[in-house]
Amino acid sequence: MLYFHMQCIKCGSNKIVKNGFKKLKTAKVQKYKCQDCNKYFTGAEKFHHLTENQKRQVFMLLDQGYKKHHIAKELGVYLRAIQYCIEMENKKEEDYSSSSNV
Ligand SMILES: [Zn+2]
Repeated sequence: MLYFHMQCIKCGSNKIVKNGFKKLKTAKVQKYKCQDCNKYFTGAEKFHHLTENQKRQVFMLLDQGYKKHHIAKELGVYLRAIQYCIEMENKKEEDYSSSSNV
């Protein structure tokens, strides 16, 4: 059994095994599987994907007036991940407001 120094994007477990490859248009990426929650993911996702718990912390710290790069430092994640998380959240709100207007 192979273990890696990486965390599950969903539950944060480090019981990660390699699980074949995922074919993209431009490249082949390594797929991983979490043995704790059975979540499949690729190594690329960890750069922009936060766990639900991390997302909660991001918005909590934003509320407290933290800057994005401080939050990234605080949580030990990439600034890009924070930006992506906020973008996604804004998108959700836009989708929601536009659909409620119809
Ligand atoms: Zn997991």
